[in-house]
Amino acid sequence: MDFSLTTEQKMIKDTVRDFARKEIWPLAGRIDEEDWFPEGLFRRMGGLGMLAIPIPEEYGGAGGDIVGQMLALEDLSRCSPSVALSFGAHANLCMYNLHRNGSEEQKRRFLPPLGSGGMIGCLALTEPGAGSDAMSIRTTARRSGGEYILNGTKTFITNAPIADLAIVYAKTDPGAGPKGITAFLVEKGSPGYSVSRKIKKMGHRGSPTGEIIMEDCRVPERNVLGIENNGVAVMMRGLDVERAFFAGEAVGIAQGAFDLALQYAKEREQFGQPIGGFQLIQAKLSDMYADIEAGRLLCYKAAQLAMEAERGGKGTEIHKLAAASLMFNARMCNRVADEAVQIHGG
Ligand SMILES: Cc1cc2nc3c(=O)[nH]c(=O)nc-3n(C[C@H](O)[C@H](O)[C@H](O)COP(=O)(O)OP(=O)(O)OC[C@H]3O[C@@H](n4cnc5c(N)ncnc54)[C@H](O)[C@@H]3O)c2cc1C
Repeated sequence: MDFSLTTEQKMIKDTVRDFARKEIWPLAGRIDEEDWFPEGLFRRMGGLGMLAIPIPEEYGGAGGDIVGQMLALEDLSRCSPSVALSFGAHANLCMYNLHRNGSEEQKRRFLPPLGSGGMIGCLALTEPGAGSDAMSIRTTARRSGGEYILNGTKTFITNAPIADLAIVYAKTDPGAGPKGITAFLVEKGSPGYSVSRKIKKMGHRGSPTGEIIMEDCRVPERNVLGIENNGVAVMMRGLDVERAFFAGEAVGIAQGAFDLALQYAKEREQFGQPIGGFQLIQAKLSDMYADIEAGRLLCYKAAQLAMEAERGGKGTEIHKLAAASLMFNARMCNRVADEAVQIHGG
């Protein structure tokens, strides 16, 4: 057993942490209060190599892996969950999905501009009537000559208001259930494609969430991602990776909350001493610390297994572990954040 990060992983973590502290943390208050997304800063992350960590160098990426991408997400989340969520939707849900399922031509066309921040990506599955029950989507795609005509509405789509490229799931054979869904690469500016209102949220404010409306939206045949009617394979194949990856956000948010609570406990004085001197506060901090470390171990193990599965490793443990990591860490993050709020008092 070796619990240490590789030199490359350490380098990614240090670079992103440094960038997030210097560039994102000073903006975190404004991002939340004004529901503002620092788009210029986000695009600049492309120039620094952060948006394409697991993408091979031949497509303009850093040639790293999914563990490295998760570590970047963790350290972005520590400073701004909003920037982190947009990063995840762009770099993982859109770009990494395209990398695993796209044709050579699609990868050469889209990955370099997505990696440099010249283009922003999103993934559009959810619909007003189809959330957990993703197979019940109603967006349709009808073939017409060398094109597909898409009709439907997607909602809750991270980055939709600013995205140049959307991976869209639609029914190409509505009678065939899961075997009639296809994934498409839909470019902003396609006839019949529009983005409606930005959705207001309780959390992750700043990360732009929106609705995509497709009315007789024309998409060329060459923009089918994967094989026609095989969209569920595109969707399901990515789930382990996405779950293992996104658990990193919960770990990062929890760590950020812990850092602030610890600092406050040292500074805030009551009854003649810093509140960190009281055993009740110490117990809270030690529980938070143990919770975060347990979650991080699970998160890193799931990410490592997801990476090995990507490289052809076999076994089903990753299905269970990725789901367990996301579930545990989402709850852990809430517990830790709640205690951090208690330590801050009023
Ligand atoms: C901030 C944010 C960003 C998002 N980004 C994206 C994105 O980029 N792309 C995208 O496609 N989607 C995105 N989503 C959508 C997200 O995937 C959906 O919200 C999610 O799938 C749940 O769907 P729903 O909100 O319609 O809830 P529902 O599915 O309607 O669930 C409502 C409630 O019913 C419960 N429930 C549902 N089914 C069952 C059942 N069988 N048994 C018991 N209880 C059940 C749920 O647990 C929940 O408590 C985003 C959502 C949020 C909040």
